Amino acid sequence: MELPDREICYRTLESRDARFDGLIYVGVKSTGIYCRPVCPARTPYLSNCLFFASAAAAQNAGYRPCLRCRPETAPHLASWRGTSNTVSRALALIEEGALDGDKTSVEQLANRLGVGERHLRRLFRLHLGAPPVSVAQTKRILFAKQLIHETRMPMAAVALAAGFGSVRRFNETFQNLFHRPPRALRNKDAATTEEGVTLRLRYRPPYDWDSMLSFLAARAIPGVEVVENGHYLRTIELNGFVGTIDVFHQPKQESLCVHIRFPNVQSLPAIVARIRRQFDLGVDIETISDHLSKDPLLASLVARRPGMRAPGSWDGFESAVRAVLGQQINVVAARRLAGQLVAAHGKPLPKAQAWHAGMTRLFPTARQLASAKSIVLRMPSARLAALKSLAMAAAADPNLFRATDSIDGAIARLKTIPGIGEWTAQYIALRAVREMDAFPATDAGLLRGAAIVNGEKMTAQILLNLAEKWRPWRGYAAQHLWAANGKTAAIPDGHLSDRTFDFSQMIYPSITTTEGKIYESRL
Ligand SMILES: [Zn+2]
Repeated sequence: MELPDREICYRTLESRDARFDGLIYVGVKSTGIYCRPVCPARTPYLSNCLFFASAAAAQNAGYRPCLRCRPETAPHLASWRGTSNTVSRALALIEEGALDGDKTSVEQLANRLGVGERHLRRLFRLHLGAPPVSVAQTKRILFAKQLIHETRMPMAAVALAAGFGSVRRFNETFQNLFHRPPRALRNKDAATTEEGVTLRLRYRPPYDWDSMLSFLAARAIPGVEVVENGHYLRTIELNGFVGTIDVFHQPKQESLCVHIRFPNVQSLPAIVARIRRQFDLGVDIETISDHLSKDPLLASLVARRPGMRAPGSWDGFESAVRAVLGQQINVVAARRLAGQLVAAHGKPLPKAQAWHAGMTRLFPTARQLASAKSIVLRMPSARLAALKSLAMAAAADPNLFRATDSIDGAIARLKTIPGIGEWTAQYIALRAVREMDAFPATDAGLLRGAAIVNGEKMTAQILLNLAEKWRPWRGYAAQHLWAANGKTAAIPDGHLSDRTFDFSQMIYPSITTTEGKIYESRL
């Protein structure tokens, strides 16, 4: 986003306006420190303030992070950068480590995004006020700062986890920036946990945790995911290591608290980035709600669930597999199939990490399924073949579910896989690639939701026309329409009919097989 003018920025500071947290940073000339708008310190004079659109821009201009308001704890509004989808995509890739290590470059990043390097730099200057490399550096420093403050991890592990090449470079960076060694930044009160790392990930409120958790509960894959007592738990595999995560809500802190048990600390930034994406933490939901509320069709839905997010997924391949499993069957049946797939093909979680009886296996990787002689599932052969082609495509291209140049590019790429039609591709684009304008218009649940709200019969073409006004956030509109359908539709499935508010209806649309043909005419 481009910054509002100085007077408006200053007012957010004077009023400690939390709505601008993560969107505006203020550098104070007299102290050389930069703050969040919510900093409890005395408000500096306007003449002393410089405003920045990102923490990286403030650091790039020579300011160091405030130790009171801790800019590392501001919401990461990564997917929200005004209208520049290229910047959003680039930020998502940087969060995953696209500019970490010696073998990466801005040129490669630009190539992946289908733009020139100069153009990418220009967009970063415009929207973030800092070049891509500074954004990546700031990300590393702030992540290290968070680990120092919130955990008891040894300093060498912090250096490694945050992507510093050596402990010496880490010490030097902190000494230069904070004028003290890293250990001096340790919070003496940080909880000592028996094992693993606990971190707080802030979001921009409102956040509808109940909807998110119900959504995940309805789809929790037996053996892999558990939802209980307000917690979401799952097994994870990354870079050849395995572990578990535990996520729960801390509404007072406007944060999700995550407990990560994972043997490889260097994977921590990627794990945190994936959790942010799965739980849709990097979004400016208020701006999206304002936009969608302009349409009378959606206004009451948004008012009913102002903090509703569009759930993502832990892993692109996993959610793509679930999309294929869910073709033409309901959520309960799709979940059962996913459980059977895991039982037959997923590796068992090592005993040392199996601290919860519900988490026993890992979701099978693309490579495992691609090389399996046959996939053991009771499913129509066409869909089994689709699953196999999906696994082969994902094994051949590790970036298959990452954002590239455009949403159309992503959809077209997915549709080249046999058995992936328009509905599945749009669904995967929304959940896995995180293209928030994706919109599976032929989805039965979506059509019913729209018909309920609109009071008329709905076709995919009418819905697509209506949805033009909802761009570039049709994915959020879809989430509201699914919820509208779940709330009021008569649900023919016996497993679900006793629920009044049924999030299990929100994604896999088909309730009856007769409706199935409208989602995947290509199959
Ligand atoms: Zn401050």
